[in-house]
Amino acid sequence: MHPTTPYSPNAHEELAALLDAVTAYAEERIRMEPPLDRVRTQEDLDAALGRTVTAGGLGGSEAMRIFADELAPACLSVDHPRYLSFIPCAPSDASVVFDLVVGASSIYAGSWLEGSGAVWAENQALRWIADLVGMPEGAGGVFVPGGTIGNLSALVAARATARHRAAAGQRPWRVAATAGAHSSIASACEVMDAELVGVPADEAGRLTGPALRRALEEHGPETFFAVVATAGTTNFGIVDDLASVAEVCREHGIWFHVDGAYGGAGLAAPSVRDLYAGIEHCDSFIVDPHKWLFAPFDCCALLYREPALARAAHTQKAGYLDVLTEAPDWNPTDYSVGLTRRARGLPFWFSLVVNGTDAYTAAVERTLDVARYAEAEIVRRPELELVRERDLSVVVFRRLGWSPANYQAWSDRMLADEFAFVVPTTHEGETLARFAVVNPATTEDDIRDILDTMA
Ligand SMILES: *Cc1c(COP(=O)(O)O)cnc(C)c1O
Repeated sequence: MHPTTPYSPNAHEELAALLDAVTAYAEERIRMEPPLDRVRTQEDLDAALGRTVTAGGLGGSEAMRIFADELAPACLSVDHPRYLSFIPCAPSDASVVFDLVVGASSIYAGSWLEGSGAVWAENQALRWIADLVGMPEGAGGVFVPGGTIGNLSALVAARATARHRAAAGQRPWRVAATAGAHSSIASACEVMDAELVGVPADEAGRLTGPALRRALEEHGPETFFAVVATAGTTNFGIVDDLASVAEVCREHGIWFHVDGAYGGAGLAAPSVRDLYAGIEHCDSFIVDPHKWLFAPFDCCALLYREPALARAAHTQKAGYLDVLTEAPDWNPTDYSVGLTRRARGLPFWFSLVVNGTDAYTAAVERTLDVARYAEAEIVRRPELELVRERDLSVVVFRRLGWSPANYQAWSDRMLADEFAFVVPTTHEGETLARFAVVNPATTEDDIRDILDTMA
C-alpha cells in the first residue's frame, strides 16, 4: 500500500515521519560544507545493501537510512569547492531549496494551459538571458535538460528552416564547427544523420569568419543548414570569434547557433563581456544554468531569435494534443525535442528573484578572479606551464616531466583522500591538468593547496 494514500490507516503518521526525515536531511545537506565523497564498486554496494526493492517495502526510515548512510556518500558532491573536473555545478541556496518546492508541486510545465504560472516565470528567467545575449524582444525558448538536448533541438529547428527555404530539390545536410566544439554537436549530427564539417581553428583555437568562409565555399554554402560557434569551449573555455562568424552566416543566409552551455554565463560578467561581441546576431543560443549560473541539475536555457521557426519544427501533433496545439498559447514543449517537462527553470527563476541579477554578476566575477589567480600561480611555479592563455574560468596546464600515469595517480590520490576531484584531460594527444572554476565557494587557498600537491 502506498504509505501516503488514505487507504493506509496510519497515513498521516507515516507522512509526518517521512517529512521529518526528508526535510531534516535536506536541511542538513544544504547547510553543511559537503564532503567530497567517493566511488564505490558495484560489488561493494551489492554486498552492503542487497535488494532494496522488495514486495513489502522497507519503510521510510530504512529507505532514508540506506540513502543517507550508503548511497549519498557514494556520490561525489559536485558543489564541493575542490571539485574542479569537467564542468561542476554549484547551485545557490535559493535554487536548491526551491527545487524541493518544485518537486512537491506536481506542475506540468509543457503547456500554458496546465502550467501558465510556471511557464510565465520561466519565460522571465529566459528573458534575462536573452537580454544578456542582446536578442530582440520576440526571442524566446524553453528550459531543456541539458546542452546536449539544447544543441540537438536548435539544430533540428535550423535544418527544418533551411529545408523550408531551400530551392526546390535541395535539402541542406551539413553543419560547420571546429574540433573544439562540444561532443554533443557530433552526437546531434549522428542522431540527425547530418554531416559535421570541421573548420580549422585559428592559433588561439577559435572559429573565425575567414576560415568558415573557406570551408563553406569548398563544400558549397547551399549544402549547410547551420554553423555552430562555441562561446566557451569545454576543454579550454575558448570563445570563438563570434562577430566574424556571424557576418559570414549572414552573407550566406545560414543559421548561426551559439553553444554557450558552459561559457554563456560569462555574458553576465563585465570583465569578459567583450569576448562575446557579435553574439547578438545568433539565431539560437544555449546556456546551462546548471553549469556556471548556480542552478541545480538539470537545466539548459534554449533561446531562438524567431521562436515560430522552432515551433514549426518541433510541435508534436495528435488528436489528444489538439486542445493545446491549436490554442494561441506559448507551450514550452513546442520548442524542443521532448514532450512532458518538469518546470526545471523555476529553481533558477526563484534564485534570480531572491538574489537579484547583480549577485549573479558578482558570483561569476568571483570565479573569474579565482581562475586568474590559478593562471598566475601556474605561471609563477617553475614545475608548471600554462598550455594557453585563459579566456574564461577554465585553466589548462602541464606538470613538466609528468607522464599520463603520473597525472592519473595524482588525480586518484586526491580523490581517495577526499581532498579534491581534478581529473586529467587530453589535448592533441597530450595528457594535461585542468581546472574548471564555476563555484564561488572555491578559493585561492583551494587552488594553492592543489597546486602544492604537484610540486
Ligand atoms: C557541457 C556542454 C554541453 C553539453 O551540455 P549537457 O548539459 O552536459 O548536455 C554542450 N556544449 C558545451 C560547450 C558544454 O560545455
